Amino acid sequence: MIDLERIRADFPGLAQEVHGKPLVFLDNAASAQKPRAVIDAVAHHYAHDYANVHRGVHQLAERATDAYEGAREKVRAFLNAPARHEIVFVRGTTEAINLVAASWGRHSLRAGDEVVITEMEHHANIVPWQLMAEQIGFQIKVAPILDDGSLDMEALAALLSERTRLVAVTHMSNVLGTVNPIREIVDMAHAHGALCLVDGAQSVSHLPVDVQDLGCDFYAFSGHKLFGPTGIGVLWAREELLEAMPPYQGGGEMIREVSFERSTWAELPYKFEAGTPHIVGAIGLGAAIDYVNGIGLAAIEAYEAELLAYATEVLNSVPGVRIIGTAPHKGSVLSFVMDCAHPHDIGTLLDAEGVAVRAGHHCAMPLMERLGLPATARASFAFYNTREEADALVAALHKVREIFA
Ligand code: PMP
Repeated sequence: MIDLERIRADFPGLAQEVHGKPLVFLDNAASAQKPRAVIDAVAHHYAHDYANVHRGVHQLAERATDAYEGAREKVRAFLNAPARHEIVFVRGTTEAINLVAASWGRHSLRAGDEVVITEMEHHANIVPWQLMAEQIGFQIKVAPILDDGSLDMEALAALLSERTRLVAVTHMSNVLGTVNPIREIVDMAHAHGALCLVDGAQSVSHLPVDVQDLGCDFYAFSGHKLFGPTGIGVLWAREELLEAMPPYQGGGEMIREVSFERSTWAELPYKFEAGTPHIVGAIGLGAAIDYVNGIGLAAIEAYEAELLAYATEVLNSVPGVRIIGTAPHKGSVLSFVMDCAHPHDIGTLLDAEGVAVRAGHHCAMPLMERLGLPATARASFAFYNTREEADALVAALHKVREIFA
């Protein structure tokens, strides 16, 4: 069960007014608010235990290293990854996918190979493949969506062949809310000898993720959407893949030995963590994972499903509103357009009412093109949002209609 009162009290950012109105924060798909536990963990570490990690011979270095590596273990358990050294700390989902494209992609892909993505991908799971395809000459194939925003599984199946080397797919769409059937997609990819990369940027804060259950080969997510700090994220990959992949960046931390003639690499995961890492970011992410586990992702998923159903119903009651993305399995994202107003005007007017939503292409321009829309307004909910906030959104949309219709 979700104890909303207690949970909301844990998030200092939620308890404020904007433009003289109580804040209704519905921009969680872009980035989520932080609980006091995360803010305190970050402040505590900077105040008491701060030093650079690894190789330290003094007390603070040891404490910092223990906290940083402790956070890695929390991430491992969170994803149910087999081994801690398969958890690579990166800047976020974007860097994780760039790492896979630049390291695994450059090392393993050849001209004539194919990487399959989908029409609903975020730019972070499109552009890294384009950059690498330009250098190597492999093909990028795009699996289409159906009109309700589901992935067209038949069309995906038809795209796969012995040329397919990777299927790179989002777990949950940041625009449509669609939750993709990852286990099924993984099985299809593996049946063709291809790997599967999952963009977990949107999913980790909404549903339980078990990489062993999913069966995927790479999983990427960002700390800031999981109620943790910005600038920290995770790439999980199978050990044998990480072992075979060349380093992504060179520098300190990632080497075993360096001479001017040649260098050798550190063991996993340090081979992929060149330079001083975002130590306190990782520790803050660990605190965010503890916080989310304290509520439980199964409880979060159940609560948000109910909240989404309610918000969908009340939003549909506003004349001239059209919800974009109505797949049967979706997370708590509501993209919409109105017949009377442009999404950017909707966003500005909602802000005046204290309601924070996002308007634009949501870093998914090809999807917008497929939908035939320049932009949508998007209300995205977290477990700390309430039915009353969905009502506030709807009341504000009625005002938009009064002004524009
Ligand atoms: N993929 C998806 C589905 C996303 O929603 C986002 C963030 N909007 C990203 C990737 C990129 O995440 P980040 O900016 O944290 O690297």
